[in-house]
Amino acid sequence: MSKERLTKCPLCKSGLFLNHKEIKDHAISKENFLLCQCRTCKLIFTNPRPGLEEIGKYYESKDYISHQNKSNNLTNFLYKIVRKITIKSKVKLINRINPSKGKLLDIGCGTGYFLKEAMRQQWKVTGIEPNPIAREITHQKKIKVFESLEEIKKDKKFDIITLFHVLEHIHDLRKTGKSLAKQLKKYGTLIIAVPNVKSFDSHYYDTNWAAYDVPRHLYHFDIDSMERFATEIDMKIVEIKPMRFDSFYVSLLSEKYKNPGENSIKHFISGFKKGYLSNKWAKNNENNYSSLLFVLKKK
Ligand SMILES: [Zn+2]
Repeated sequence: MSKERLTKCPLCKSGLFLNHKEIKDHAISKENFLLCQCRTCKLIFTNPRPGLEEIGKYYESKDYISHQNKSNNLTNFLYKIVRKITIKSKVKLINRINPSKGKLLDIGCGTGYFLKEAMRQQWKVTGIEPNPIAREITHQKKIKVFESLEEIKKDKKFDIITLFHVLEHIHDLRKTGKSLAKQLKKYGTLIIAVPNVKSFDSHYYDTNWAAYDVPRHLYHFDIDSMERFATEIDMKIVEIKPMRFDSFYVSLLSEKYKNPGENSIKHFISGFKKGYLSNKWAKNNENNYSSLLFVLKKK
């Protein structure tokens, strides 16, 4: 099937970019994808990539668990425990930013766990979720949820908009970024969490790094390219926070890709060690954790 080939950098629109490396879709299709790096803004992006019509089939897997509730192995079991903890800390963060609460929009809300907890803590919540099954589950939690951002009225403004591991999946990066900034109130906050291609686990696992997750991840950010993204949408980064659990999860998955013949206990032990090392390394290396959470404000 033909892929969408970008002729301009999806972040800065420069026409100058070079081939960076080839990565396999370990999780689902087993196809190889090329990453390019922009000469101007240094963003690494998947190119060519499946277009909007074609990308759906790359999400079809029983292992792609972020939309489902099944727990059938150790990884999924731990994933659920960690999810509980991270949801609490995400709500704690938005409570700190807006102690008086307000309107919250979560893009890519999945099955609505985060929004449900925020709603319990008096936030007025709305979700966006393209997956119909996940959207229906969110809907059953009495949460207002839409298929796409376009369905939200332009004059409806939010105090906080969140994208937890979502921005790297969005086809029109610049347009979506600008729409998000427009949906914010004057002193509104945009919260973006993405994997960090400058992390220890990214360097260590290299082409087996699970957070490349091609072709689902269209961009592979670091602090510099996220700063550039903020500038492009007239916002600025005011805070960067580590997501310390992600290093463990990503390392565990990467171990599977690196050593497919080994058993899952070995993957678990090695992955845990590398996850721990990744967090320790990041502390002394400009906070280059496996994943980072960026807090953006309007300029
Ligand atoms: Zn660029």
